[in-house]
Amino acid sequence: MIEKAEAVVLKTLNHGDTSKIITLYSKEFGRLKLIAKGVRSPRSKSMGLFQPTRHIQVIYYFKANAGLQMFKSGELVNGFFGLEEDFDRLTLAQVVVELVDRSVEDEERHPKLFQLLLDTLERLSNKEITSAEAYWFFHAHLLRELGFRPHVAHCSICRDPLKNGGSLGIGSAHLECVKCHQPGQDSIFVSDRVLLAIQNILDKPWVEIEKTSLNSRERRTLWDFLWRFTFHHVESSRGMKSLKVLKQLYD
Ligand SMILES: [Zn+2]
Repeated sequence: MIEKAEAVVLKTLNHGDTSKIITLYSKEFGRLKLIAKGVRSPRSKSMGLFQPTRHIQVIYYFKANAGLQMFKSGELVNGFFGLEEDFDRLTLAQVVVELVDRSVEDEERHPKLFQLLLDTLERLSNKEITSAEAYWFFHAHLLRELGFRPHVAHCSICRDPLKNGGSLGIGSAHLECVKCHQPGQDSIFVSDRVLLAIQNILDKPWVEIEKTSLNSRERRTLWDFLWRFTFHHVESSRGMKSLKVLKQLYD
């Protein structure tokens, strides 16, 4: 049976002398793995199609219960070429696709997540848009779509509002207020301003959160919070390769 899908390339792996195994996140079927035979030969028309972050349309032969489907043909929808002119933006886009690859299940469609992925790559490739905010918006909404929305309004123990900020312990995804938190643990303190920024990112439309007013220390805490929270819920995110490059950029 022949199938058609609209997808973003998440990952590619060389296979044999001229083939590639491609992991896609598709609008119609969620994560999808294709084998594309002969695409690394110089005569192949599909050579440039399979860079991670590319938005493409593919036609493939579908076989039920097969781990790998056979690629037939494809075309580029959007290359997000703006990413290639800026190392920071390209790094963030690589983190985006790697994080999606590690957090979704095979063949589970989630059109809202697909749209979030496309919107994010579009924003990251547009120099007019601040890249960190575009990234945070993606990360926070990905967590929400996966069912792990961070709860930043109340203390997880006494339920009081976190008016004076809260602490997040290592290996924990719960915020605790100043009264309830046991000092001495290896935890991070997240100020009320950062908690409010996270809340806004989750609840307000993109246009309203585009420019946060956080200082550099607060921005670093926000990064730290998002990743600690993610490591707790999405275990496989801990070994992400692109994260090492990201850490060099933001530490
Ligand atoms: Zn408390």
